[in-house]
This record gives sequence, structure tokens and C-alpha cells, in this order.
Amino acid sequence: MFNLLENLVYKNKDYGKEGKLASYIPALLKADPNDLGVAIVKLDGTEYFAGECDKTFTIQSISKVVGLILAIDDNGKEVVFDKVNVEPTDAGFNSIVNLEVKDTKRPYNPMINAGAILTTSLIKGETEEEKVGKLITFMKKATNNPNISINEEVYVSEKLTGDRNRALAYFMKSNGILNGNIEEILDLYFRQCSIEANAKDLARLGAVLANDGIIPWSGEKLIEKDTCRIVKTIMTTCGMYDASGKFAVRIGVPSKSGVGGGILSSVPKRMGIGVYGPALDEQGNSIAGIKLLQDLSKELDLSIF
Ligand code: GLU
Repeated sequence: MFNLLENLVYKNKDYGKEGKLASYIPALLKADPNDLGVAIVKLDGTEYFAGECDKTFTIQSISKVVGLILAIDDNGKEVVFDKVNVEPTDAGFNSIVNLEVKDTKRPYNPMINAGAILTTSLIKGETEEEKVGKLITFMKKATNNPNISINEEVYVSEKLTGDRNRALAYFMKSNGILNGNIEEILDLYFRQCSIEANAKDLARLGAVLANDGIIPWSGEKLIEKDTCRIVKTIMTTCGMYDASGKFAVRIGVPSKSGVGGGILSSVPKRMGIGVYGPALDEQGNSIAGIKLLQDLSKELDLSIF
């Protein structure tokens, strides 16, 4: 398996040259577009990896998975999906258009920015610090990494330039969909996007989801089985933005990407996969990472379909 992963990193690394780093968050421009790494964690706890799999990056939209899990845990699925829909969209990850044209004004799904800002607003806690603490504690457990923390530089960069997300949030407020202190909600959202992890961490989180919420290396239950089912379903239909359909056909594994270049994948009952490749395609997905996953899915027959 180590050989296979080494070969796939070598084979697909150059695709990074065809992509671009996310530039709308200036701090993300510090990444090396030629990086590519992959890690696999099987449900017996064995780990395989190759390439840049120890390098940390901000998980960005991958945090939408964590926000959704905590929102369901805190409120129950009925409350959450009363406010955010579960339908894929062909509009981009930060699009505002659907918030106006649909009757219900609900964001299309929790994997795009509008939906994620909404689910993040549902995480319960007395203070913002408490809510951030819940996100970090969850990540530490799910990744078996006590060093998980927030990249302050990226957080500040996002906060300074996050006007599109501000627009989405205030638009939802004006529609009566998003309630509470909007600046605090956005701050929490920017902080969750700025959580740092590496490909191995993502693979472990993917393994927990693949194992129906039971942490493979400790046996502890971290997520309800039904929540895992819902989250993996939404990852499949909406996790790769407006390329989710193509990704399902080509790779067929519940996955979530982020503009930091990470991809979290979870093959039910089999393994978690973490990929890092910061050069992005037009939809905002890791360009080399998708190519690598395509090969990996074929080699290991990973498609769930
Ligand atoms: N923090 C990013 C944003 O809100 C996340 C986007 C992404 O990874 O798709 O724009």
C-alpha cells in the first residue's frame, strides 16, 4: 500500500501546476502549489501515507462537516434541516443567488458557505470561546492529535477579507433565517475554517465517519451512527461544491474539500482518506488531489456505487 501511494503522488504531482492557490484569502497564498500528500487510515487503525502528509494547512470548508455534526448533536436533525436544506446546487460555494430565488430562503445545503454559516450558528455554548472549544475538542478526538489548533494568521486574513460571507450572513438575517449576533457567528465560522490539520488527521476523521462514529483506535463513540449516515450522504451529494456529481461518478466516495487544498474522504466500513494539494481547480477543489483520488478509487475499488 505504501508503494501504491508513493506512485500515485509521483504520478499526479504535476497537476498542481494546472491549478491555482486560493487568493481571495491572502494568507492562503503562502502554500506551495506543488505539494501533494495522501494518507489512509483503515478501520483496524493501520495507517499508510505518502508525500506531504505531515504538512499542516487550514481545513476551510472541511470544517463544515464538523460544524454540521455538532449542530445536529446540539439540536437534533429536525431543527437543523428545518433551517438548511440538503439539496445539491450548481451555484458556487460562496454564491448568494439561491438565497433569494427559492421560496423558503433556506440555504441549499450545509456544505456551501451560506449553509455552513447557518449550521455554525446552531452550535450551542454560553460564549464564543466555549463553542470554539467544542470544535477543537471534537477535532482533537477525531484526529487523535492533541495539537490541533487555529491558524491565527489565516483567521485574521479571513476576517479582514470575508465580505462575501458577511453578505451571505446579513442576507440570511434579513430573510429571518439566521438569528443571533451576526458578527459573532461569522467570527466562529472564520475560526472553524482556520483550524489546522494535515492529511493524516483528515484520514483519521474519515475513518471515524467510515466506522459509523466509533473511534477505531479507542473504541469510543464520538458521533451518533445516524448522524454519520446523514453527513456522509450530504458529503456525497454536495461535498465537492458544484463538481459533486462529476466527483461521484469518477470517484464515488463521500468527500468534502476545502479551499486550503484538503480533501476528507470516508469509505464506509473500510477507511478514511486525507489528501493535501493546495493548487485548486475552478470549483475550488484540489486539482491534483482529485486526480490522485480518481486513481486510488480505481486501484482499490472504492466507489460506493
Ligand atoms: N473560509 C472559506 C470561505 O468561507 C471556506 C471556503 C471553502 O473552503 O470552500 O470562503
